[in-house]
Amino acid sequence: MRRKLVAGNWKMNTTLAEARALAGAVAAGVGASPSVDVAVCPPYPWLVPVADALKGSAVALGAQDVSAEPKGAFTGEVSPGMLLEAGCRYAIVGHSERRHVIGESDSLINHKVHAALEAGLHVILCMGETLAERDRGLMERVFQRQVYSALAGLTDEQFGRLVIAYEPVWAIGTGRTATPDQAQEAHAFVRARVASLYGEKIASGLPILYGGSVTPDTAAGLFAQPDVDGGLVGGASLKADGFLAIVRAVV
Ligand code: PEP
Repeated sequence: MRRKLVAGNWKMNTTLAEARALAGAVAAGVGASPSVDVAVCPPYPWLVPVADALKGSAVALGAQDVSAEPKGAFTGEVSPGMLLEAGCRYAIVGHSERRHVIGESDSLINHKVHAALEAGLHVILCMGETLAERDRGLMERVFQRQVYSALAGLTDEQFGRLVIAYEPVWAIGTGRTATPDQAQEAHAFVRARVASLYGEKIASGLPILYGGSVTPDTAAGLFAQPDVDGGLVGGASLKADGFLAIVRAVV
């Protein structure tokens, strides 16, 4: 039975005071022993204060990115070890804004996945097609490439700390959500690719989250799909009430 996860990606939002208040409200709303895993991913400078605000709660801390390097002359980068020391359990890798706005390559994403897992983090690996790729019928080819290139070389133990987030690029921050059927079709395909490349056991245990304009209204339909194991939530994670409603939709 795959454990469900709802993670909030705050992106480059919140002041320090807002971040503390949001983390505190999420922690209070989630309670002591939720039946679903919950995480929040604030901006880098707020990781330590948010870790403080979450102390003693069931809500985990995640980073929105991670360096592929352990230390050294990499201005602006933050290493996996630093994230662990700051209190992170998760690191998001390969978010579409990093792939398409910053220009991260499949090869860099593979290095980041390895570096984060080798350091002991859990990884939320994002993948998904652009609208042009969907319109040209290239979805399956894109998933095949992203699954193969990002996950090559992982051990079985490392697969145990991996979560995939299917995030169609056309649905991120656009208010346009995939339908439950579209999400199920994509998740089933991604799981089948993982099975053919890395084995049935790894594929059947791998949580696959849906991300892309999830709201309290759309969450229950998406999360009811058999291959949808929770969500990666952007805009709707910035208000505690809405985010908690999405968490409840999994339960
Ligand atoms: C995201 O950035 O991971 C995301 C899913 O954003 P939104 O929910 O705002 O579309």
